[in-house]
Amino acid sequence: MVNLDWDKLKFEYQPVKSNLRYNYSNGQWDEGKLYTTYDVTLNVASNVLHYGQAIFEGLKAFQCVDGKVRIFRPQANAKRLNASASRLLMPTFPEEMFVEAVRKVVADNIEYVPPYGTGGALYIRPVMYGTTPQIGVSPASDFQLVFIVVPVGAYYKGGIKPVDACVSTDFDRAAPLGTGMIKCAGNYASSLLPGKIAKEKFHCPVALFFDPKTHEYVDEFSTSNFLAITADGTYITPASQSILPSITNDSLLTVAADLGIKVERRPIHRSELPGLAEVAACGTAVVLTPVARIFDGDQVYIYGDEIGPVLKKLYDTMTGIQSAQLPDTHNWLVDVL
Ligand SMILES: *Cc1c(COP(=O)(O)O)cnc(C)c1O
Repeated sequence: MVNLDWDKLKFEYQPVKSNLRYNYSNGQWDEGKLYTTYDVTLNVASNVLHYGQAIFEGLKAFQCVDGKVRIFRPQANAKRLNASASRLLMPTFPEEMFVEAVRKVVADNIEYVPPYGTGGALYIRPVMYGTTPQIGVSPASDFQLVFIVVPVGAYYKGGIKPVDACVSTDFDRAAPLGTGMIKCAGNYASSLLPGKIAKEKFHCPVALFFDPKTHEYVDEFSTSNFLAITADGTYITPASQSILPSITNDSLLTVAADLGIKVERRPIHRSELPGLAEVAACGTAVVLTPVARIFDGDQVYIYGDEIGPVLKKLYDTMTGIQSAQLPDTHNWLVDVL
């Protein structure tokens, strides 16, 4: 195990031992190779720099209570990467190859997986981009898919802390209407400005987007899905074409149903916001972040400065499954070695 200050880790890039790179040309992926450098050489006319053919994924490997390292739901990330690839006319990457690639890069960097009990994880970030030099707008024919890994710390040190959110009123996020959100560079670039406004103008760490067509229904936060517990204890989360299908949200919905909680994926009208009992943002980075208050124009909806009981139960159950303290009844964990 490398000598890192595991308790000080944040969600930040740092170089580790290796990254795993695959190249696509002449209609085929190569067999992949581990690299110890982080630099890539690109022609300045590469498609990705001008037309943004770039997608990514995010998933985690955990050291479990028995000392083994396991990856959480890599097949789901493989499927979503391929959904993103298809939408941007990029080549898909076989699902089994994706799972093997993740296992390989985690195994090679096993000494960077934060120890059990620190609450940290090895974050895996696959990124694919078009490298063909071109001036005309058309899909690239050459691509690179690189798997980098970064040790990240427990998000919550000394207890879960709810955060404020505000409705993004100045800007929509550029989600392609009717096609669904994909995990691509372009959507993130255009969410930076609304995120900056949320922080500077409203002092909120996160912005909440409504659907771009009517602005009547809740979509999601900049980098995480929206979920809430209603006054009668139902887990609700938006059904929308312009949100990213979060694997964490899908897992939490499943866990909630297992716990006997009623779950609903349905449109959530903004008029429901004041009446909700518990609200949270969810995603791989943090599992879930409770929301203390939502600022919506001149209204404020208050959910409290402590995590609510249902969210706490969901959080504990999810992290319990990820660290193999609780049974993995859905076969979500994949062994590295
Ligand atoms: C990645 C992402 C999420 C969370 O998805 P997970 O699979 O749970 O990590 C939510 N919203 C957006 C826009 C995302 O890019």
